[in-house]
Amino acid sequence: MLLLHYNFRRFLDALDELNPAQIKHAQTKIRDLRQKTEAISEIEARTNQEHKCPFCGDERRQKWGRTRTKVQRYRCTGYQKTYSGRTRSAIGRIHRPDLFMVALRDMLGTSTPQPVRKLARQLGLNKYTIWRWRMLVFSIIENSNVAASFSGIIEADETYQRESRKGSREWVRHFADPRSVPQPPRPRWEDFTTKGLKMMRGLSRWQLPILTVADRGGSHLFRRLPNRKSATMERAMKPLVPGDAVLCSDGGNGYKDLAAAHSLEHFVVGSKPGTRVLAGCYHIQNVNSLHARYGKFIEPFCGPATKNLNGYIRWLEVRLAGIRPADVIRDS
Ligand SMILES: [Zn+2]
Repeated sequence: MLLLHYNFRRFLDALDELNPAQIKHAQTKIRDLRQKTEAISEIEARTNQEHKCPFCGDERRQKWGRTRTKVQRYRCTGYQKTYSGRTRSAIGRIHRPDLFMVALRDMLGTSTPQPVRKLARQLGLNKYTIWRWRMLVFSIIENSNVAASFSGIIEADETYQRESRKGSREWVRHFADPRSVPQPPRPRWEDFTTKGLKMMRGLSRWQLPILTVADRGGSHLFRRLPNRKSATMERAMKPLVPGDAVLCSDGGNGYKDLAAAHSLEHFVVGSKPGTRVLAGCYHIQNVNSLHARYGKFIEPFCGPATKNLNGYIRWLEVRLAGIRPADVIRDS
């Protein structure tokens, strides 16, 4: 320990001798090290909170060295098995927890998340690794509870996301075996040009509705609906709107039916600019601004595959709720 202390003093003294280029180099190195230690301390915080063996739940334990990634390892007094903060967690098998933390911070930070390729290049990793990590984070946040409850004036509206079968093999399978694999229901985008198919204007049936609800207290949610039927809308809205709430929406039948069925006070406002405000406080501007945020968030992903759309919606909610990387690690 004394020697370490002595070395450290010498190290600090040596810093004075560095030239500007070396200082820059040292800065990068220290930043990398800090990322690493921060990752480790957040993973360790997970065991320190839990204090339990992930195998048998016993709280008695001994410190038992450190793992290859320098995380504190413990040994359970009961069964004598060793574990660390990552054991049996969703992030347990990640080889570079430090870089995972960087990617997680990028996902949850205040600035726009970086494209997978760019982040992969920056971290010196394969793009598929970053992609897998993103999907892993989706699976962790899928179950975390950002329960929204609504009261008072409640705004509701839908936005739409074009259905995407990105990555789907349906046409490939069809062409490989046309007899047993029927033609998929939707033309490929290239068919619209090569076969001269007409693009539908406005809302085609390939536009998926996303319901957005917000109240004036700041609660909000996005929810993908399976279809555009008014019954679906009513079913989705019903548990969100208490009986004494005031509903503001456009003139969609789902909202009208909901208001009628539960005798809610209902203000119908136009969705076109200029008609959005009805008598002062009755408007749907909060959901409209949420739609704008959704649009801005989703745009760089160039139409995410529909099978992942719920994950992206959840990701946006988690970002808006200000959930921190440490919370995600704890829930993993
Ligand atoms: Zn145990």
